[in-house]
Amino acid sequence: MKLKDYIEEIPDFPVKGILFKDISPLIANYQAMSYVKASFLDIIKSYHVDYIGGIDARGFLFSTLLADALGVGSFMIRKEGKLPGKVITKEYSLEYGTSKMSIRQNINLKNRNIILVDDLLATGGTLRCGEELVNNKEGNVLFSLTVIELVKLNGHKNLNSKVYSLVKYND
Ligand code: AMP
Repeated sequence: MKLKDYIEEIPDFPVKGILFKDISPLIANYQAMSYVKASFLDIIKSYHVDYIGGIDARGFLFSTLLADALGVGSFMIRKEGKLPGKVITKEYSLEYGTSKMSIRQNINLKNRNIILVDDLLATGGTLRCGEELVNNKEGNVLFSLTVIELVKLNGHKNLNSKVYSLVKYND
């Protein structure tokens, strides 16, 4: 399966100079999604996992899929202002600006093994923020998973835990 065939590159989105990797063709294709799911599960298979943490918003496309396959729960790490109730919030920087993400305060992640999932690793700022939010709740991030990695941005260097990606872009 050539996953790159299912990723559309869109120049200057959402701002000039960014080559946006759009996964719409991938999620529209059952075989491609099935392949992504199986590949992620193959990486996870030897670990004991308690929760999958999905990153707003495209991470959610994969987090519940994996949680269901593993028979575990998932939780959302969301952009600021999207989660109701009491939240913990952290600021982070990304390829095109800065932002804030939050996690619900009442989720119990203490000593739980967690895998974070997003569609793409660029600078690593987003997943790093996810790691910090989980650590704040005394959870243990085993590693992160992304469909795509922009290798030149060296995002993995920003992370405390390992990240596995399925498709690497070197340009
Ligand atoms: P970063 O925090 O720099 O690793 O950026 C990763 C986050 O920003 C992910 O949630 C992606 O969905 C999004 N993102 C960053 N750069 C791109 C890109 N070139 N194409 C698509 N999404 C991107």
